[in-house]
Amino acid sequence: MDGCLFCKISDKKIPATVVYEDDRALAFRDINPVAPTHVLVIPRVHVSTINDLGPEHEADMGHLFRVAAEVAKLEGLSERGYRTVMNCGVEAGQSVFHVHLHVVGGRGLGWPPFPKG
Ligand code: 5GP
Ligand code: ZN
Repeated sequence: MDGCLFCKISDKKIPATVVYEDDRALAFRDINPVAPTHVLVIPRVHVSTINDLGPEHEADMGHLFRVAAEVAKLEGLSERGYRTVMNCGVEAGQSVFHVHLHVVGGRGLGWPPFPKG
């Protein structure tokens, strides 16, 4: 989609540190990491938020989790543990409106992760 930052990263029009890619998904390091590993996994197809998902996106969204597990393996986190997060909408903190799965790990992660209250 024109003007979408993550579509541009998917199309290699904007650089990113890619850790995994295939024809349906791309995984790249977050520019502002909150942990030693902070990778974003995006579908190649543009979908703005979880609210915009249709039945045609189910395979791609399931694939994101398999890519997240692959990223965790590449980062040595499979056994240690890691967290996947997908924010939806402003109040949840979504700032880029192309769905993306955060894969975060490499340090202890607090729960619940809602410090602002
Ligand atoms: P959200 O807040 O929408 O859940 O997550 C968006 C994430 O994208 C943030 O963690 C932010 O640091 C990351 N981000 C924003 N712009 C860029 C960019 O240009 N490159 C990369 N690699 N990450 C970005
Ligand atoms: Zn997009």
